[in-house]
Amino acid sequence: MKPKVVIFSAPSGAGKTTVVKHLLAMPEFNLSFSISACSRKKREGEVDGKDYYFLSADEFRKKIENNDFLEWEEVYADHFYGSLKSEVDRLTAAGKNVVFDVDVKGGLNIKKYYGENALAVFVMPPSVEVLEKRLRDRSTDSEEAIRTRIDKAVYELSFAEKFDVVLVNDKLDETFAKAEKLIGDFLKK
Ligand code: ADP
Repeated sequence: MKPKVVIFSAPSGAGKTTVVKHLLAMPEFNLSFSISACSRKKREGEVDGKDYYFLSADEFRKKIENNDFLEWEEVYADHFYGSLKSEVDRLTAAGKNVVFDVDVKGGLNIKKYYGENALAVFVMPPSVEVLEKRLRDRSTDSEEAIRTRIDKAVYELSFAEKFDVVLVNDKLDETFAKAEKLIGDFLKK
């Protein structure tokens, strides 16, 4: 069976990491996580080739010129993030299906590249209010960062209809069940 690609995109805080972790723990899906590349400094405890592929800004630019990325973004000056084609090749060569946890625009670019061989899932929060509450409860962001994320989320929600499916993440056990069905059906095709 040809390996397939599953893409999860969502505004920050909608729950894509939670859903992706759940699916990665299910051996029957044979999924492996696509590790992103970035040009920010490695934080304490992070491992190159595990958390990210850490590149210098110049190395990153070179790879952009070589057309090595499926998608990339310069979040701010010299801070690049992206998904390498070579990473997908590495995983599919090992017979794995590949799962991406990427932002909304990146997700759509990856879908465009892989077409029918990819399923693009938009994880939708039940409402902006709930999204805000989850970001607060997660306690990983400052108040200012939360405001920025909410503003960005409102814009990102407008991309939902461009995805193959929208997965509303309200009650987590129901979300997991829906995600399992979606991925199971897609991988069987
Ligand atoms: P993302 O990866 O999209 O930024 P996370 O997976 O980190 O989002 O989820 C954001 C926060 O919301 C986390 O603290 C997570 O535990 C929580 N969360 C995720 N899904 C649900 C849900 N269905 N109900 C309640 N809390 C949730």
